[in-house]
Amino acid sequence: MLLVTTGVLQRRLRIGWRRWHFLFVVPIVSFLGWYAAGQIGTTITAVVMPLAIAMLAPAPAGRDPVTSTLLREPFLANADRNLIQARRTRSNTAIFVLEVDRFKLLEERNNRSGIETLLRAITTRLALSLRASDAIARLDGPTFAVTLAPAASLDLEAAIQLATRIQHSMAEPIKIDGLNVYCSVSIGFCLSDRIEGVDSSELLQAATNALIEAQRHAPSAIRNYSPAMRSRIANCNELSQQVSRALEKGQIRAFFQPQISTRTGRITGFETLARWQHPQRGLIPPIEFLPALAQVGLMHRLGEVMVNDALSALSRWDAAGLDVPRVGVNFSNDELRDPELVDRISLQLEQFCLSPERLAVEVLETVVADHADDIVIRNLSGLARLGCSLDLDDFGTGHASITSIRRYAVERIKIDRSFVTRIDADQEQQKMVSAILTMAERLGLDTLAEGVETAAEREMLAQLGCGHVQGYGIARPLPPEDVDQWIKGYRAIVINQRPFRRRVG
Ligand code: C2E
Ligand code: CA
Ligand code: CA
Repeated sequence: MLLVTTGVLQRRLRIGWRRWHFLFVVPIVSFLGWYAAGQIGTTITAVVMPLAIAMLAPAPAGRDPVTSTLLREPFLANADRNLIQARRTRSNTAIFVLEVDRFKLLEERNNRSGIETLLRAITTRLALSLRASDAIARLDGPTFAVTLAPAASLDLEAAIQLATRIQHSMAEPIKIDGLNVYCSVSIGFCLSDRIEGVDSSELLQAATNALIEAQRHAPSAIRNYSPAMRSRIANCNELSQQVSRALEKGQIRAFFQPQISTRTGRITGFETLARWQHPQRGLIPPIEFLPALAQVGLMHRLGEVMVNDALSALSRWDAAGLDVPRVGVNFSNDELRDPELVDRISLQLEQFCLSPERLAVEVLETVVADHADDIVIRNLSGLARLGCSLDLDDFGTGHASITSIRRYAVERIKIDRSFVTRIDADQEQQKMVSAILTMAERLGLDTLAEGVETAAEREMLAQLGCGHVQGYGIARPLPPEDVDQWIKGYRAIVINQRPFRRRVG
């Protein structure tokens, strides 16, 4: 109780202090006006000051300028009052935290005023789902918080019903620039009887933890806070810290997987794949650490390391006379939004005295399928102009239109593993891959099949006319120190083998 009361007092003092600013500013400025120009100065100040205050204060104090909902501090003060009342009346209150699902995508597709329209519409719908005594705040970007007025009937079931009602209220489309935009929210909440003796900021933190858990199951997920969430999130934060340090210490480095021409059997390139060489846990695959790196905003740093490792390996292979035409590097959406990307790549190529066509940029099909923002388009065309080639990764899993394949000057499509598995035995797989290959041929695109695990799959892909193959059936991703040996061994085998069969039918 003492904790809550102290929190309330501190917050009230902070808000009050902001309002009192004006009591100092107004007389001081009026006095300066009078001191500088006598009666005229006072008159000017009297006219200009109210205008300036009106223009510079777009929203009432303590309110978000876009949605007019509360800001964090007054919201917490309100929630503290609810907590005190709930304890006095032996009832329950709760904090809900909501976030718009896939907000980045909405931001990419709409301009600023469109996003503001969306946030206002969400606020209105939220308000209509609540009672007048509940309070709403916009915490940050697409995140809203709600504090509920205490009620004896507020239990877990009532809270879930309310969360569901809020989600239903978001189902109708929102009109932005004449177009229907659909959005959903994920919700985390914490009832005050779930954690005893906390103040509003701790209750808000608990609801935020529940939201983070809900977002793992987004869209439109709802989660109630449980103490286990706290330790899960702590583990996740711990991983983010560890992975950042690992990247700086050089523990995350590139492995290389070969790509082979089905026509000649020759090595046509290597794909660069990130691996974390953990001192205790051994080799950790990217699926386990990429999300943590993305969370701390370090994907562009990983990109720098991967390009550097790839180009330095390529120049070593050149020096050893190993004839590797190029290396492919995976580029995340975050990296593709870096305005410095093209300059950085160009500089890295210069440092290693390598021509740009030696570097293939691998971009997920979903990146070009989505309505990419200007910066992604500019970067991809900048890299193509520089001379880098563009591989469309995981082809068949996104919805890239033929127009976008053309617009981005894609050179090669990498057919996703899901179409390749058991292609030798499965006629449906064969039909799908044949259709993709025919389309690619008509568009003048090269092709590569990913995840080729057996000789039979490789043989079938060669027969169907797929240009290149990559997968465990040829080699697993190799550490750079093993690549030279592997190339020499592979060459020795290929020399004694007949070339793969060409396309049939
Ligand atoms: P991806 O770009 O589609 O890479 C191919 C993945 O399939 C790799 O997994 C590779 O090891 C695996 N693979 C290759 N051949 C076979 C096979 O025959 N069978 C099976 N089952 N799998 C095969 P990995 O290395 O775990 O990478 C997973 C994903 O992580 C990559 O998928 C890529 O999207 C991402 N990734 C890896 N390295 C980087 C990186 O440096 N930067 C970025 N942005 N993403 C990366
Ligand atoms: Ca890839
Ligand atoms: Ca892939």
